[in-house]
Amino acid sequence: MRPYFLAGNWKLHKTPSEAVAYAKELAEAFASVTHRVMVAPTYVCIPQVAEVLKGSPVLVGAQNCAAAESGAHTGEVAPAMLKEAGVDVVILGHSERRSIYGESDETINQKVKLALSAGLEVILCVGETLDEREAGKAMQVVEDQLRKGLAGITGDQLDKITIAYEPVWAIGTGKTATPQDANEIHQGAREVLADIYSTEAAEAMVIQYGGSVKPANVKELMAMEHIDGALVGGASLTIENFAPIVQFD
Ligand code: PEP
Repeated sequence: MRPYFLAGNWKLHKTPSEAVAYAKELAEAFASVTHRVMVAPTYVCIPQVAEVLKGSPVLVGAQNCAAAESGAHTGEVAPAMLKEAGVDVVILGHSERRSIYGESDETINQKVKLALSAGLEVILCVGETLDEREAGKAMQVVEDQLRKGLAGITGDQLDKITIAYEPVWAIGTGKTATPQDANEIHQGAREVLADIYSTEAAEAMVIQYGGSVKPANVKELMAMEHIDGALVGGASLTIENFAPIVQFD
């Protein structure tokens, strides 16, 4: 039985004081939560949010990390620095990092490796654009991103990796993939994982869905066989929306 994992990506929202106030609400609301829960504030909010969430079941996420351990990389933050600041999990390969900041699969793979060696868990995001979906290439794109993102990662590291399937056309648009469409890609992703590793390893991997998840659609998405959680953007920013998503059952 795979554990449900509900994660909030705050993107470029909340100042440190706003983040701290919200983290206090989350710590209280999820004090006895039964699913895995994570929130990813901006870098500058991480130490204070981590302090508030210490002792709470809510994990601390980061939205990115450097593709290097140290050195001349102005503006970057290394995985080991995030770990020391209290981060448990880092989101890598988000479509905004790929499209706005030009991150390649090779860079993302480098980050995955460095994050794991720094002792962080990883959420590896994959997903097709609207053009790719309309051209019938959704599964091909997801397969390619999975194979390249996981290159060199061994089977014994997989328990530290969550996959997030996020169709780019559904992120922040209010459009959600139907539960059936999402489940089909999740199942295909699991088959790719089985091919790279083993059926047992693929069956154990948590695959989140992301793209306009909200209280009104979370339950039907989570009911699908291959959907094991959600990566939530907009609806993770308020307790009114995030609490019913996390406690969907
Ligand atoms: C995301 O940022 O990963 C995301 C899925 O955003 P939203 O829920 O707002 O579509």
